[in-house]
Amino acid sequence: MQLTNRSKVINKKKLNWVESLYLPAIFSGMIITIKHFFKKAATTRYPEEKRYIAPVYRGVHVLKRNDKGQENCTACGLCAVSCPAEAITIVAAERQKGEEHLYKKEKYAAMYEINMLRCIFCGICEEACPEDSIYLTDRILPSNYQRNNFIYGKDLLVEGIKPEERIDIGVRKKHYEMNEKPRV
Ligand code: SF4
Ligand code: SF4
Repeated sequence: MQLTNRSKVINKKKLNWVESLYLPAIFSGMIITIKHFFKKAATTRYPEEKRYIAPVYRGVHVLKRNDKGQENCTACGLCAVSCPAEAITIVAAERQKGEEHLYKKEKYAAMYEINMLRCIFCGICEEACPEDSIYLTDRILPSNYQRNNFIYGKDLLVEGIKPEERIDIGVRKKHYEMNEKPRV
């Protein structure tokens, strides 16, 4: 039974002397190639040219702060629990005296990590968050040669983080020494 009309029946006929020179086939191939010179290119010259990104595109995550500059995340873990790819790892800590300007509530994420190689950019973490903390931006995940560089910690996720607040690098290192190797 014929399902589509796209199939072609090919007859293997003997070539005549003109066809056996292969010139008609070469010229028809060149005509197809030349036609493509005048068509709009299907590729973009990234990074000089940027592709159009749909407004609903889900890219790299950001951990938001409130208007006082405090981190919204309270390390409740709902995003990690709801993540279908198990890409999020959190280590919670208690806010110390004098850190009120950094963290919104008494509990905060000392380590917050997303394995971008596991993440499928589904946006469920964003929907699960009760604190308006995690959002997916329209930023494309940059390429890298090292798999470990795809593990994004707070230093890359928290918006506008200052160098003196980059505490999670040490916490992450300690966590892995004590518990496990990064899941890559
Ligand atoms: S976007 Fe989806 S897969 Fe990625 S961290 Fe969030 S919940 Fe997990
Ligand atoms: S990002 Fe939101 S859901 Fe995830 S731990 Fe922080 S407050 Fe909870």
